Amino acid sequence: MDVSGKRAFDLLKSLAYVRVSGTPEEKQAAQVLLNVVKKDGVEGYIDTFPVHAGKVHRARLTVTAPYVKEYECTGFIRGESTPEGGLETELVYVEGATPVNLARVEGKVALINGRLNYKLYEKLMGAKVAGIISYSGTVIDRESETDIDILKLRETWTEPFGFTVAVNVRAKSAMDMVKKKASRVRIEVESERFDVESRNVRAVIPGTQYPDEVIDIGGHYDSVMFSTGVYDNMAGTVIVLELMHYFAAHPPKRTLRFHCFGSEEQGLLGSKAFCAAHEEEVKKTRLMVNIDIGGSVLGSEKAIVTGSEALTHYVEGILDEAGLAVEVSRDIYSSDSIPFADRGVPGINLLRAGAPGAAFIHDRRDNLKNGFLSAEGLESTARVALEIVRRVANAGNMPVKREIPDDIREKVDKYLFRKK
Ligand SMILES: [Zn+2]
Repeated sequence: MDVSGKRAFDLLKSLAYVRVSGTPEEKQAAQVLLNVVKKDGVEGYIDTFPVHAGKVHRARLTVTAPYVKEYECTGFIRGESTPEGGLETELVYVEGATPVNLARVEGKVALINGRLNYKLYEKLMGAKVAGIISYSGTVIDRESETDIDILKLRETWTEPFGFTVAVNVRAKSAMDMVKKKASRVRIEVESERFDVESRNVRAVIPGTQYPDEVIDIGGHYDSVMFSTGVYDNMAGTVIVLELMHYFAAHPPKRTLRFHCFGSEEQGLLGSKAFCAAHEEEVKKTRLMVNIDIGGSVLGSEKAIVTGSEALTHYVEGILDEAGLAVEVSRDIYSSDSIPFADRGVPGINLLRAGAPGAAFIHDRRDNLKNGFLSAEGLESTARVALEIVRRVANAGNMPVKREIPDDIREKVDKYLFRKK
């Protein structure tokens, strides 16, 4: 018995629907994944955790001077509601968060280039903006073929910097406003904040010889809105379960814990919740193997080692010996290996990176109907993952040191917005 791309692809097909954090669809997918675990006779659990969320009941954006025009927009989830009659004020195009631009946004609405992020939010809130307009997509998008992303003010932003009014528009709309020198806007948002429940699915195969030495193997199964998240990342999830199938039939010397993480797309919330709720258990973790994106027909295998040079060379050695063509590098990877690295656990991030123009993430194009995923693509990464995990799990002496070198530590701290 071996890993099977076909079986993985069949499971992926049955879960190829939008699975946003905290929705009934995410919950349903978790149950399907747990059933797969149970069917193999493996010990499995669903762990729930709260996620700050909300709903935007209404969002409207109107330029009121020097012309009047309404632009289609979406309100940021967890954004502030506007007062009765809306928020009407001056509009400033903030090309970059330079001191000159920031000095003139107080009490005004800032139109930014592209997406909002932590750094920009910190600066705009520090400059006392009254509201933010971001955009997504490209200036040549066709409305019939694209969605306006529904974004969220993340708790990592709002906890330190507070809340504001925020809407998102199409890139084309942003360009139109700048071309026509829009100088005043009215924003009307009715938004509600509440918590929802998200879920991690976890399976454990105890080690036959070294049960207290643990390898965590994970992939996230949630998606963003409008995306069925098959490439990102039901592909990784089904590969994680392929490994579970294999080790259920071939008991490993070390304990293997398999994770399907929820809410990764909201800021690694599932893996953060697992690590926070199982601090003592994670102290036993020697290695984390994370799989995020995979299955593309045109693509290439990559391994990003969040750990030492020694671990990187070890991974290269395993793959060379097995004759598996994988590009190995050493860095952090924006995914569920981060909370483990934060606790001193080295990680190996595996992915089948889509070739240029041959794979899509985070919008409606990440969909099976576009035909860019295959069973062979899934099996390719599953073989790489199996080879690495099999070697480490069954080694006579643990070949991986539980250590994070300083340069990686610094990158993790920066990623988690820690200030020195
Ligand atoms: Zn992902």
